[in-house]
Amino acid sequence: MEKIRKELEKKHYKLFNHSGVQICEWTKKSLRGEGVCYKEKFYGINCHRCMQFSPSVVFCNLRCLFCWCPNELFINKFPEKIDEPEEIVKNLIEQRKKLLSGFGGSVKNKKKFKESLEPNHFAISLSGEPTLYKKIVELVDYLTERARTVFLVTNGINPDILPKLKKKKNFQLYLSLSAPEKEKFEKICRPTEKDGWDKLNKSLEIVNKFKGRRVFRLTLIKDLNDSDEDLKGFLKLIEKGNPDFVEVKSYMSLGYSKKRLGDEKMPDFEEVKKFALKISKKSNYKYEDESKDSRIVLLKNKDSKIINRFE
Ligand code: SF4
Ligand code: SF4
Repeated sequence: MEKIRKELEKKHYKLFNHSGVQICEWTKKSLRGEGVCYKEKFYGINCHRCMQFSPSVVFCNLRCLFCWCPNELFINKFPEKIDEPEEIVKNLIEQRKKLLSGFGGSVKNKKKFKESLEPNHFAISLSGEPTLYKKIVELVDYLTERARTVFLVTNGINPDILPKLKKKKNFQLYLSLSAPEKEKFEKICRPTEKDGWDKLNKSLEIVNKFKGRRVFRLTLIKDLNDSDEDLKGFLKLIEKGNPDFVEVKSYMSLGYSKKRLGDEKMPDFEEVKKFALKISKKSNYKYEDESKDSRIVLLKNKDSKIINRFE
């Protein structure tokens, strides 16, 4: 535990017991006036006011090759003693302020900097699997009552928690999909439990019934999950979950994933777009938007009534 904590602190994470926060590179760019992340472009969140955090910073039931964290040091079992949602959020907001404080002097737009200290978007992702935190539903409820927007990203390997999540107009549920079938799932996502693939499939069925906003994020890795055969597998999974949006995204060779995969495994934007358009051609999803810098294409379910951008 100490070893991974030190690794994360070296990468400018601030930790609070089982939770952690970090400033996203896009938040920094937004503050410097150098652009905004694709989630601001696609969904209208405020990138400079985003708090990216995890209540489960070193706990996960996968060891994905593309994970930018030192997941070789991750722990499967969540500790018995857990913090309350309010405690986590209040502590991490303070820690985030400390991380941002060094930035203040260099940001020309003082109004924007002042706003950034009070997050209004919460991205529950960053590191680890957030649904392993037993009070994740209460945490989402706590945040959706206070924030403008809340995104929760899950790997789908903890399906029992998903039916408890509530539809809220400012809440978006993400499911990561990185493997088109079981064998590739074992190879790319390296589950620590034998029934990981079955659990993911159960999650797809649950997400299908979820009434709120739902997004699947496909991470494409060159020569690992981007063939026409892989496309067929992904189409089946998308059909099963029937989300409102599908984000088709390039693997990014960052952090600890560099050692596992490396730069040559990153598809370029044109390759990502080509794959996304093939999905669109063979499914009920239409091309909706793109971000070249983030090597991502957004597809939207033709039957979805969701308005892309939050008001
Ligand atoms: S929404 Fe995601 S990409 Fe955008 S600033 Fe927050 S963590 Fe970064
Ligand atoms: S599910 Fe997320 S946190 Fe867990 S290993 Fe995969 S990428 Fe990393």
